[in-house]
Amino acid sequence: MNVGVLALQGAFIEHIQILKELGISTFEIRQKKDLVRSMNGLIIPGGESTAIGKLLRDLNMLDELKNMIENGLPVFGTCAGLILLAKKVEDGGNHLGVMDITAKRNAYGRQLGSFFVEENFEGIGTVPMTFIRAPYISEVGSKVKILAEVNGNIVAAQEKSMLVTSFHPELNSSLKVHQYFLEKVCS
Ligand code: GLN
Repeated sequence: MNVGVLALQGAFIEHIQILKELGISTFEIRQKKDLVRSMNGLIIPGGESTAIGKLLRDLNMLDELKNMIENGLPVFGTCAGLILLAKKVEDGGNHLGVMDITAKRNAYGRQLGSFFVEENFEGIGTVPMTFIRAPYISEVGSKVKILAEVNGNIVAAQEKSMLVTSFHPELNSSLKVHQYFLEKVCS
């Protein structure tokens, strides 16, 4: 199995580290030509969705990536990655616009919006969840499965082979959410 990690901006190194711990081969996606490499899945990390979205457009990668995901490439978006995948973004434009969710950016406030909880994630039990200026999902389409909620807000969801979390599983030592992606979404 080979998993590409979008490495334009944000917390991509931590995802690569987790994949290595799981014994999965991985490579960084930095430019359009990296998209032709064969991959079983793709991770879009947290960071700043507007910056990553702008880079995807400037590097002429947005349409190609959108096509690949629409054609079934399994994808896991964390935090800013969730926003990039969302069809709708409250008070703003969308980017890849492939998953039938509405993302509310900076939903917990801009400065004081960082916190840690341990909550249930459907099918895998309690997982540590680190939120950093995180979005949450304010609406989901009928085909979207809700996987986790914190204080009544949706923080993890799946639609076909698209998985998103508004928290950062790569920043804790638990490997469970990445395992879920590899076992339940990629295969
Ligand atoms: N606030 C960021 C955004 O709107 C997301 C933060 C993150 O990825 N940790 O893109």
